[in-house]
Amino acid sequence: MEKKKGYQLPGLPYGYKDLEPFISEEQLTLHHQKHHQAYVNGANAIFERLEKARAEGGDSDMKALLKELSFNIGGHVLHTMFWGNLIPAGAGGDKPGGKLAAAIDGEFGSFERFKKEFTQAAASVEGSGWAALTYCRLTNRPLIMQIEKHNVNVYPMFAILMVVDVWEHAYYLDYKNLRADFIDAFWNIVNWKGVENRFAGL
Ligand code: MN
Repeated sequence: MEKKKGYQLPGLPYGYKDLEPFISEEQLTLHHQKHHQAYVNGANAIFERLEKARAEGGDSDMKALLKELSFNIGGHVLHTMFWGNLIPAGAGGDKPGGKLAAAIDGEFGSFERFKKEFTQAAASVEGSGWAALTYCRLTNRPLIMQIEKHNVNVYPMFAILMVVDVWEHAYYLDYKNLRADFIDAFWNIVNWKGVENRFAGL
């Protein structure tokens, strides 16, 4: 039988030093090579356990396995999106333009108001998680989503346009416990053109 496909760690679209001074080389290297890789490995390991149980005809603990699979796939997909959201400072522009800017203004009233709500969402994630900008095609509203861990509180099927990782592993080497300082830094390295392109592709 043909070997089934697993997940793979994607490369970064910039060098490990390129997000300095906002994210250090050491922090980014560890985050990408160790933490993101762990979710890739975790999801692939579950595939292997399912395959083994299928081959042997035994039972799997589906509840436990699928919970773990959701966590690991969420981690992989969100990190992949996060790397694409970032760009060296000065190259990304400080705010969105075009239709995305119009959609944000239409929903939030202004970019500054959006930034405030998004920052508060990211700062207040309980434990480990993410803040995401998503878009509801039923109402044509850009929405903020607060994701706990990698998979809790997700609006199903809503396209994610932008995320910020607020797990401690994302910032602890650079900012220690100061999550708010990391979120402030994040705003300097957002690839708005990329976010606009994702919005245009919905
Ligand atoms: Mn992370």
